[in-house]
Amino acid sequence: MKRLGEPKHFESSDITLRILSRRMALRLGPDGHGVNSSLGMALPGGEQGLGSLAYIYFHRIQKLARLVERHTRTEEVILGHAVAHEIGHLLLNTPMHSAAGIMHVPWEGTDLARALEGGLVFTPAEAAQMQANLRAPARGSEEARVTRVNPLSGASQ
Ligand SMILES: [Zn+2]
Repeated sequence: MKRLGEPKHFESSDITLRILSRRMALRLGPDGHGVNSSLGMALPGGEQGLGSLAYIYFHRIQKLARLVERHTRTEEVILGHAVAHEIGHLLLNTPMHSAAGIMHVPWEGTDLARALEGGLVFTPAEAAQMQANLRAPARGSEEARVTRVNPLSGASQ
């Protein structure tokens, strides 16, 4: 049962994040084949609402970790940040990237150094947008359907 103040219509099962091996990534198609060097992929929902599926290409996490100077937790830290980045795409509901912060790409040496120090984060605007998106009615929910068909609401969602 939901308590007052909790985000509406967002359940823990709404996001699936799959961490793929190189072999599994290759089955995904061009992105998994290394057309670019992205560490993962997310499928934002666009006008349908928030997306729910993201992938992490673990072999690229490992490759990037090997390029960074030795650090005891490099692979884990990069993996954690890549997970946050891909979930960020889902919660921001966009495939776009930012000029700075965890949604900036590609991650270079300074970004990775900041990640290892815990300083690679979402911008305040991104955090606010994710919170707003989580408060919005989910696609298919009763509230969303009512909003879509109510001519008085003025909503175009
Ligand atoms: Zn991205």
